[in-house]
Amino acid sequence: MAIVKDMIPAFDLVQPASIGDALEILADNGEEAWVLAGGLDSFDWFKDRVKRPSIVVDLGGISDLSGISDAGPGGIEIGSMTSLTEVVNHPRVQSEYPLLAEAAEHVATPQIRNQGTLGGNVAQDTRCWYYRSGWPCYRAGGNTCYAGAPEAMNREHAIMGRSRCVAVNPSDTAPALIALDAKMIVEDTGGPNTFDAEDFFIGPSIDIERMTVMKRDNLLTRIYIPPFWANASHYYEKVRDRGSWDFSLVSVAAAFQMSGSTIEDARIAVNGVAPYPVRLDAVESLVRGTSGDEATQDAAGDLAVEGAVALKYNDYKIPMMRNLVRRAVRSVA
Ligand SMILES: Cc1cc2nc3c(=O)[nH]c(=O)nc-3n(C[C@H](O)[C@H](O)[C@H](O)COP(=O)(O)OP(=O)(O)OC[C@H]3O[C@@H](n4cnc5c(N)ncnc54)[C@H](O)[C@@H]3O)c2cc1C
Ligand code: SF4
Repeated sequence: MAIVKDMIPAFDLVQPASIGDALEILADNGEEAWVLAGGLDSFDWFKDRVKRPSIVVDLGGISDLSGISDAGPGGIEIGSMTSLTEVVNHPRVQSEYPLLAEAAEHVATPQIRNQGTLGGNVAQDTRCWYYRSGWPCYRAGGNTCYAGAPEAMNREHAIMGRSRCVAVNPSDTAPALIALDAKMIVEDTGGPNTFDAEDFFIGPSIDIERMTVMKRDNLLTRIYIPPFWANASHYYEKVRDRGSWDFSLVSVAAAFQMSGSTIEDARIAVNGVAPYPVRLDAVESLVRGTSGDEATQDAAGDLAVEGAVALKYNDYKIPMMRNLVRRAVRSVA
């Protein structure tokens, strides 16, 4: 009888009890170290032997990284190790920022949301299967993109924002955080840096081997959501292949400040269409001062997809994105 020995390659597991200790360990170990949150993305990489860190820094014992608290004048602060389930169920998130609760609730399954963290969800890597299977593409440090080749399977890939790599950002919570103008607090041993959520995610033209501004010795410690977009009109929609659970094909997150029936201000972001979640500033400008009437909905959808170019198998994403943006605007009409 065959014996299957499917052991993850060995690594040293370190379990710091403070943010400071974790940052020191990361700084000392550079490219050899790997941050472990809920492990749902991390263990996939380790099991498939595609990523082989020699030191894994488990954040699970750092209580300062967990929980949701009141912050600043009216906003909330969410520790990066807060589980997605806690985000979904938190009373203030549900009542004031339902956009985030809804986006987090669309992540995978209850079991994955119990274990997966908000920090891990925004820091997760792309799901491009060539890359995840260990093919030596640009993102893996090689010199080609397999998904961009004429005969490649690229149904789930990008229609905009491409630069050698055509993979998409897979996070459901990312566009909601951009629409809520969240601030991402990233720390290294030099101290904290704050990034607007839309600048936290980066495309391959900035660095093809990362999906966020974070380097190996960085930690996302918390996410601050300011009060401005609390209790605004929120809209979230995710289209996926299966209703039960799946990554998004395209998703939209939008927040509107209304004055009567007029849109005073808007923030709209789309994911699944580019290597980073795309904020639609031009569409936001277009809808401001309107009632979100049908003509505005159509113009917003058309503007959203301006410049989009399909690969061989993903042309459906262009009308899908156009329609999701139209529907977001229609939600306030
Ligand atoms: C079957 C399945 C289905 C899924 N479906 C969806 C889905 O529909 N929508 C969706 O959005 N996601 C989906 N996911 C992805 C899942 O939500 C993420 O894998 C998960 O949120 C990652 O969080 P984690 O806490 O497990 O992080 P880990 O897997 O531990 O970490 C993920 C990455 O982030 C880095 N990281 C984590 N925390 C920090 C931090 N604080 N600072 C710096 N770096 C950090 C890690 O080094 C690693 O590179 C799915 C995953 C699986 C396995
Ligand atoms: S799309 Fe990006 S991740 Fe996928 S094969 Fe091409 S370079 Fe690699």
